[in-house]
Amino acid sequence: MITINENYLKLQASYLFSNIAKRVSVFQQAHPEKDIIRLGIGDVTRALPAACISAFHKAVDEMGTDSSFRGYGPEQGYGFLREAIAKHDFQARGAEIASDEIFISDGAKCDTGNIQELFTQDTRVAIPDPVYPVYLDTNVMAGRTGDFVDGRYQGLVYLDSTKANNFVPALPTEDVDLIYLCFPNNPTGSTITKEELSEWVKYAKEKKALILFDAAYEAFIRDESLPHSIYEIEGAREVAIEFRSFSKSAGFTGTRCAYTVVPKECAAFDSQSNRQLIHPLWNRRHCTKFNGVSYPVQRAAEAIYSEEGQAQTKELIASYMHNADLIRQEMATLGYDFVGGENAPYIWIDAKIDSWEFFDMLLNKAGVVCTPGAGFGKCGEGYIRLSAFNSLANVEKALARIRETLK
Ligand SMILES: *Cc1c(COP(=O)(O)O)cnc(C)c1O
Repeated sequence: MITINENYLKLQASYLFSNIAKRVSVFQQAHPEKDIIRLGIGDVTRALPAACISAFHKAVDEMGTDSSFRGYGPEQGYGFLREAIAKHDFQARGAEIASDEIFISDGAKCDTGNIQELFTQDTRVAIPDPVYPVYLDTNVMAGRTGDFVDGRYQGLVYLDSTKANNFVPALPTEDVDLIYLCFPNNPTGSTITKEELSEWVKYAKEKKALILFDAAYEAFIRDESLPHSIYEIEGAREVAIEFRSFSKSAGFTGTRCAYTVVPKECAAFDSQSNRQLIHPLWNRRHCTKFNGVSYPVQRAAEAIYSEEGQAQTKELIASYMHNADLIRQEMATLGYDFVGGENAPYIWIDAKIDSWEFFDMLLNKAGVVCTPGAGFGKCGEGYIRLSAFNSLANVEKALARIRETLK
């Protein structure tokens, strides 16, 4: 008899975004004449940078000629891309990361989920609340939690991010082995200082724990004092794995390219408490279960690091951050309390009422879709997330409608 993985049955049925889609579709059917502006789902809206498109085309043409055709590439990614990443994203910022510590993949979502198979079932996991739901659900699937009771999975250590701690969680009071951190944060848009991040690195060293650092939004940092990478913190190479993605920084959500950094010193422990390096294990996993990102996509990603690519992605990010500024100004004028939007494309707003109630009000009265904070965890209740990923015209129109609704 084939039996299923019952951990899947513990998952909460209504995934946040499908629930939103359902409510939007009900509204649309009732009001087919209303145009809806989406400031909800965290997907980019603007086209790929021109430099990426031309590199993409060129690589596709190479695939059409026997002499320049490429079959299977290196599973870890092509050297040209790994080297560009190491140089621009790390060495240029004083973080010593070598190209062979970078693993190219088709997404940070898959990588943050897949990495856990390197660790034992009884790993004690600390997850922020509110959180990018992927960290949580993949641990549920892997059987590292109990049932969902009163808004939380049993067996996990939740790291509360609240107004009281300025949305940067405090160190856990109980011992944990695996810690998820994401800064600039999705969904709150909050950031972490070098001093605060150093505390986490110190904690991980003391507790022989590992930090999974998701830096998918580092390109949105405008405050020069903030760390772009955890490897800007001394000692992090031994205790941290970093996830990056071109999805938000260069519009690659549909093109698919990301990378994971596993430093050579980074280690976990075996049952005899001996240090075991993670790099060879992740390399083995990657080579066994993954066959690389397509050549044209890697060439398109490489083009981000060209002079034009850098200028174009900078402009792209600046346009989204201009939207974020407008959203912040409007919400401040309307007397709402919020964080984020300064170094991240998300603004996390204290709704003053229930998250879903606010969502329904904004949808029904303004025709604007936001993301209810409650969908990101218990601590998200009473908040909503607005995303700056849209055109300026749509953001201006949405803000005018929000002003009418909330004033
Ligand atoms: C969007 C996002 C990613 C990127 O995921 P991809 O699979 O690379 O598109 C990673 N982490 C967070 C928190 C995100 O919001």
